[in-house]
Amino acid sequence: MIAERPLLEVNGLKKHFPIRGGWLGGITANVYAVDGVTFDINRGETLSLVGESGCGKSTVGKAILRLFKLTDGEVYLAGERIDTMRAGRLRMMRKRVQVVFQDPFSSLNPRMRVRDIVAEPLINFGMAHGRKDLNDKVAALMEKVRLPRDAIDRFPHEFSGGQRQRIGIARALAPGADLIVCDEAVSALDVSVKAQIVNLLADLQDELGLALLFISHDLATVEHLTHRVAVMYLGKIVELADRRTLFATPHHPYTRALLSAVPVPDPTAKRQRIILKGDVPSPIDPPSGCRFHTRCPFVFDRCRTEEPALRPVGDKHLSACHLDEVPGDKLLPHAA
Ligand code: SF4
Repeated sequence: MIAERPLLEVNGLKKHFPIRGGWLGGITANVYAVDGVTFDINRGETLSLVGESGCGKSTVGKAILRLFKLTDGEVYLAGERIDTMRAGRLRMMRKRVQVVFQDPFSSLNPRMRVRDIVAEPLINFGMAHGRKDLNDKVAALMEKVRLPRDAIDRFPHEFSGGQRQRIGIARALAPGADLIVCDEAVSALDVSVKAQIVNLLADLQDELGLALLFISHDLATVEHLTHRVAVMYLGKIVELADRRTLFATPHHPYTRALLSAVPVPDPTAKRQRIILKGDVPSPIDPPSGCRFHTRCPFVFDRCRTEEPALRPVGDKHLSACHLDEVPGDKLLPHAA
């Protein structure tokens, strides 16, 4: 039996942004925003890309949406290569990959009524047959995101942040997407509203079999939504595992530091906080060897010169740290 290919396959994705300067406007440096990222997402699955601001996670999302040309690498959707796709086919691909942005206040046109915002992709992709069909489809989408039908006659400013995000989700669902890129989609929302939107996305995923690429700086949010987690640091994935494994037995020191900041629901449970020194280095001149070595509490000589490969450390669990090769894992705090 031939195994089904993942819905999305990203292989060795690189995106370097040139910086121009000098008299002749030549390239003087590069921003190594994403530097060799590989992962896949199955149908109906959520993969979360997490990491601090500037680690390249949103650039990965934009690359999948084909908002710019890749420096290197390949992206496949349902087995079809999309990073080199020509305009005609690309239009059809855009139907299948949609996005929900972070800021529900600026991602909706303030001059358009909700009806027109949600109807726009249906019209653009020729998915409505006449006015009545269009209205019925818009009404059904409003129901899916649990907004009242009469909301369609109002403007975005008449809604709260959470409601606007629901409108953004309805617009993303309109063309019948298989994959939705949620780029910090709940980061700007209050905690209780955030939970409602996360629950809505989970319900829609169950109902429609959607795949989600959930981009977030916040591990606490993704814990309740995701199937797998990829942790990014300075343009690279440093750890990738299913949710349970990553939260229970994180390997990479960076993942441990991020997790140590996640609040635990049990007030009696103690979690040792790992405070990282300094800021994330500049992606214009990333550190040699392991990119995390300038902040890692466990750095040793080899880390400064040799880049660790992302290698298996358990069942479908990958980590990029030289310590994974140290017998007995003695240097790590969790092994004490
Ligand atoms: Fe820390 Fe070295 Fe592991 Fe990098 S390779 S995370 S610097 S111990």
